Amino acid sequence: MKHDADDPNPRVRLAHGAGGPAMRALIESVFLEGVTDPEARALGDSAVLPLGDRFLVVSTDAHVVMPPFFPGGDIGRLSVSGVVNDLAMAGCCDVIGLTSSVIVEEGFPIEALRRIQRSMQVACAEAGTRIVSGDTKVMQKGEIDGIALSTSGFGLTDRVLRDSGLLAGDVVITTGTLGDHGLAVLSARHSLGLEGDLRSDVAPLNGLVRVALDRAGSKLHAMKDPTRGGATSALTEMAEKSGVSIVLDEHAVPMSAAARAAAEILGIDPLSVANEGKALIGVEASEAAAVLEALRAHPLGVNAACIARVEAGQPGAVWLDTGFGTRRLVERDDQPLPRIC
Ligand code: MG
Repeated sequence: MKHDADDPNPRVRLAHGAGGPAMRALIESVFLEGVTDPEARALGDSAVLPLGDRFLVVSTDAHVVMPPFFPGGDIGRLSVSGVVNDLAMAGCCDVIGLTSSVIVEEGFPIEALRRIQRSMQVACAEAGTRIVSGDTKVMQKGEIDGIALSTSGFGLTDRVLRDSGLLAGDVVITTGTLGDHGLAVLSARHSLGLEGDLRSDVAPLNGLVRVALDRAGSKLHAMKDPTRGGATSALTEMAEKSGVSIVLDEHAVPMSAAARAAAEILGIDPLSVANEGKALIGVEASEAAAVLEALRAHPLGVNAACIARVEAGQPGAVWLDTGFGTRRLVERDDQPLPRIC
């Protein structure tokens, strides 16, 4: 494979959209060129802008998932949940509103568009928010494959959280099973017939995150949603930005039997596939039991588990403790899994 560094005329590759090192390199070399604004350079889940004595939190996201309807959800629910969750990761659980752009292919069934719109409204109701502005574009048949959505959201918060706030001595909690979304979409795309048991976790998390914030207060130090690149990419970014290392306990990771089976059939590491209804939450170890109890009392947090500990030294390293030994978890760009979200 040709790498950008030795190619005089590099072009976009699928790996540039996979959520791993190639994507971050593209952002750094193209989109951040000449950008000095520290908020943009932080590359957080959301941007946080001071507004009076509070903070305006803003996030934007695009969705191109294929197929657009999958077990457990659809592109509409995904577009609302994705933005709401990125806002929640910054500590913003009160989402004032969303905007939505729809780019659709000539010939797309109006009834499917209606289903997507209804699904967006249901997700908005769950998140306690609404779509306040939108745009529609139609492209000629063959110029786009079906439908793409671009969604932005904004809200206010008093307290800001960053994915860079982990401290040595913290533990990392997942709010539930990992791997479900990516594996459900891939199973549907490849007609594996696992759809009965395997469903996407796609859901707005602001209500669940509020529970954790209320319980842990200032002892909750960092959050990130393990979307593209899965838990491996999310933990790596948190470790790099926080200047710490993380030891992930493989046996503590909650995973459904259907997700495990699909991962095996597809030959995909379930820790590297997207989740769309999960958060990784870094809290002081002394607070872990109380946060877990609170999360598990919420319908979206019943499978919450403490999966990792945060250590000083080796900044950016994520280790997987398999019970037999420890190996470094490395983000991979060679299996880009396009159109998962
Ligand atoms: Mg995110």
